Amino acid sequence: MDLDLTGRVAVITGASSGIGEATARTLAAHGAQVLLLARRLDRIAAIQQEIAAAGGIALAVECDVTDPAGLNRASVAARELGRADILVNNAGVMLISPFEAGHVREWHQMLDVNLRGVFDTTNAFLDALTDGGGDIVNVSSVAGRQTGPGAAAYCATKWGLNGWSDALRKELLHRGVRVGLVEPGAVATELTDHITHDEARERAKRELETEQTLDPQDIADAILFMVSRPAHAAVNEMLVRPATQA
Ligand code: NDP
Repeated sequence: MDLDLTGRVAVITGASSGIGEATARTLAAHGAQVLLLARRLDRIAAIQQEIAAAGGIALAVECDVTDPAGLNRASVAARELGRADILVNNAGVMLISPFEAGHVREWHQMLDVNLRGVFDTTNAFLDALTDGGGDIVNVSSVAGRQTGPGAAAYCATKWGLNGWSDALRKELLHRGVRVGLVEPGAVATELTDHITHDEARERAKRELETEQTLDPQDIADAILFMVSRPAHAAVNEMLVRPATQA
């Protein structure tokens, strides 16, 4: 099976940790030049150096996906590498809490990052992607297919992402752009660290500690498979759960 990405330029949002970091390292290890985007510049700069030390090519750009100026900086930087032809919309936040707790700002933050950020990032790279074809991979969640109490707003963003992603797939399939959706189950990352609702955070962390989890690399491997398929084959959707997750 050919997993070679030599000559391709991949843009990864949320590349500073977890799934995004593993994806950036994996795509780079398979020959892609990678543009690392995140707010924590120190972390993506360190990852850039490690990729370069291993013989790869990477650029790190501080970019909040809700900030048009950051997205503009990112698309300019991508041109330094060539034409961006892989976009991994991975940046996301999971600030879960019971709806009745009324964490309005966090609902809005999830909408801004998990949905609006994905639209705006895709828009920023769309000309490059349609100019010769490429891949968009949207990192959704098992929470985009099922719901759970305490996760209403997060689920809404991921269900929304799934619908948007499939509609975009149909729009772009005649432009040579494949749009794929990856839906991870529980992955051991720092995602739960940012939950501010004490009970929700402790429950989420307990689940991560006591249940089987995926490694970020499992999702990076799924993304690598998706973007390395020959041009005639589109992997539209991959739902990847820990083997024991119901
Ligand atoms: P992490 O918290 O490790 O990674 C989240 C990434 O998103 C970070 O790199 C963070 O970078 C970035 N990010 C957050 N807000 C912004 C913003 N405003 N602008 C730019 N980047 C931002 O968690 P994961 O790796 O687990 O999460 C990655 C994706 O996977 C998310 O979309 C999440 O919903 C999804 N997912 C995760 C699951 C899991 O169990 N871990 C399960 C299902 C889906 P920085 O803070 O530096 O900006």
